[in-house]
Amino acid sequence: MARFARIALDVPLPRLFDYRVTGISAEDIGRRVNVPFGKKSLVGLVLEITDTPDCAEEKLKTLKAIDSTLPPLPGDVLDLFRFCASYYHYPIGQVALSALPTALRRWKFETPNPVLQYALTAEGRQALPDTLPARAVARHRLAARLKTGSADSIELNRLCGDAPRVIQDWLEKGWAIIHEDAPAATPIIRPDLLKEQQTAVEAVKQALDGFSAFLLHGITGSGKTEVYLRLVEEALSQGRQALILVPEIGLTPQFTQRVAARFPETPISVLHSGLAEGERLLRWKQAAAGKAGIVLGTRLSVFTPMPGLGLIIVDEEHDASFSQQEGLRYSARDLAVFRARQRNIPVVLGSATPSLESWHNAETGRYIRLTLPDRATGASLPKLSLIDIRNQPLDEGLSQRAIQSIGETLSRREQALVFINRRGYAPVLHCPVCAWVAPCPRCSARLTLHRPRHRLRCHHCGHEERIPAACPACGNPDIRAIGQGTQRVEEALERHFPSARIIRADRDSTRRKGSWDTMQASIHSGEADLIVGTQLIAKGHDFPNLTLVIALDADGALFSLDFRAEERLFAQLMQVSGRAGRADKPGTVLIQTGFPDHPLFSNLVTHDFAGFAQAQLAMRKTGLLPPFSRQAVLRAEAHQLSAAMAWLARARKIIPESPDVEIFEPVPAPMLKKAGLERAQLWLQSTSRGSLQKALQEWVPQLHTLRAAGIRWHLDVDPVEN
Ligand code: ADP
Ligand code: ZN
Ligand code: ZN
Repeated sequence: MARFARIALDVPLPRLFDYRVTGISAEDIGRRVNVPFGKKSLVGLVLEITDTPDCAEEKLKTLKAIDSTLPPLPGDVLDLFRFCASYYHYPIGQVALSALPTALRRWKFETPNPVLQYALTAEGRQALPDTLPARAVARHRLAARLKTGSADSIELNRLCGDAPRVIQDWLEKGWAIIHEDAPAATPIIRPDLLKEQQTAVEAVKQALDGFSAFLLHGITGSGKTEVYLRLVEEALSQGRQALILVPEIGLTPQFTQRVAARFPETPISVLHSGLAEGERLLRWKQAAAGKAGIVLGTRLSVFTPMPGLGLIIVDEEHDASFSQQEGLRYSARDLAVFRARQRNIPVVLGSATPSLESWHNAETGRYIRLTLPDRATGASLPKLSLIDIRNQPLDEGLSQRAIQSIGETLSRREQALVFINRRGYAPVLHCPVCAWVAPCPRCSARLTLHRPRHRLRCHHCGHEERIPAACPACGNPDIRAIGQGTQRVEEALERHFPSARIIRADRDSTRRKGSWDTMQASIHSGEADLIVGTQLIAKGHDFPNLTLVIALDADGALFSLDFRAEERLFAQLMQVSGRAGRADKPGTVLIQTGFPDHPLFSNLVTHDFAGFAQAQLAMRKTGLLPPFSRQAVLRAEAHQLSAAMAWLARARKIIPESPDVEIFEPVPAPMLKKAGLERAQLWLQSTSRGSLQKALQEWVPQLHTLRAAGIRWHLDVDPVEN
């Protein structure tokens, strides 16, 4: 019997730690353990057991306890951790522990009671809301919600902090009941598939018994979701579990509801970071036990143990939120493909504007492309046109034509959306006398002016300060806000359309939980006429009465140093365009630009993603940029740039020789200073993924031994940020 366990621990060292233990067996691999570490105890995960420890036996400490209340993590999930650690060159223990639900990262955890569904009784319907005091706003909200149908405790807690107590009271009064099975809220509509949908579904169905990667390309509204639903249906009918990854669940409650409505009998584990810790654990356990037929979640759910996993879907596969930008920097989309290969099952990546990496994989035949060319409802595509803003007076960024079109739309009693990807009131506070601009003291960035709360705020580090009464440099009291953010555009629209009901949707206005849901509901029901929003709005759902979209201030991305900026801009504009004219009403999209001749726009107005992708890929090929090469970047930060640069220079010296790998000189980061630290980076690039990986494999362990006093560093493999 083995006497030593190799444990993954959440410490920044790329290795496992051996502990002495009696009575451990292969069945314990994948179990949580509690171990002494220095003066502390840590939670770890058994990854291996062995008879031959990696150091003298008497030096080893003894494991304190093994958690046998939970089933061990299955081998495929452990393999996924190993792959992730080796591909992203991140310590295995930190991979493993950051992939677990937070509750399990502590030794002691509690599993809460399952989520319950509540509904009003006939008596409750009578009594509510009339018997409530007028001032009990939150209770009115609960009553109003429950009058529309049953709701679960999570949703109710979101509406009212005191929901558990109020509901208990209503249960006791006989006004509410616990509803065991949530009735399907919406009747199940299961449309006959269109020809192209049929082809797509068939192609994947034929391939359910092995690995293949599909790229499902179809504009917004082309019926991709319907394809996913049919595939999930097929997987479920074969007793398999399906994993659906989406960018941000909080923004798309509709998607979740649609899946739930289609499979009323199937337990679904919805996993996202907005869940309370215990709730997340509960759902994770349901998935791990194979009870949840469907796991629907954001990027971290790619690690969910699913014994019956038989299908993976990644919706909006191009979306940047699949890439985690801190700690373990990984791409959930890429891991999804790895996981599908490992499990020998199909993976479907869907998007209206696929990432150029995926598009290239389809071009070269590594992925199978499936195309949905038209809108499934038969609605016509929105008509896109450009507004040339050169030599035009703008009113708070809005051209005459934009204002006029909004007016016409409103007078037809339809809705209009103004898209500007900048929150706050104005991006710059400027002194016309001495040219001072309000800087962030901690970042190489300007502070954004936020009007409602009268603050200057840094969007990079969160720093806040009061708006000065006069220029701090020269004392001039006449300092000015330059440029527009959502708040200022909202203000301008209020001025032009005083009777319109305006909703502003950005990260500030939707910070409170559930507020985006509420906003979407009021847009849907026609309680709003005009919407001003950032890209957040692009991820919302269909607004049938929305017929006009105006995009302001798109030009910044056209001349960015970041070679992915155009790709992101194209995707964003396509996505907001998709909001217009979904139902029987044709939509119009107006894009304001000072560069109407830019090639990006000619592809955009003809809805020609393929043409855009081809042009971009040609440029990438010439520059040997991804996907024609692979990149990794070592980033370092310190109080002084010189320290970060010097450390990178030393790191550079120990990169193993490789003819295939191009190694650049350390350079300051494009945004030099962030949150008080100065940053530098060192890029590596290769046309061969294998060569790059091989070099990193030798190099990174040595980096851990390089003296790094005062330096924070990390490696980013396949970076998506400059
Ligand atoms: P996407 O996911 O590509 O945005 P959806 O699957 O949401 O597209 O489809 C867009 C709209 O078209 C939805 O309202 C959906 O119910 C409808 N739809 C999808 N497929 C069909 C079909 N075969 N027949 C009729 N309507 C469909
Ligand atoms: Zn000044
Ligand atoms: Zn800052």
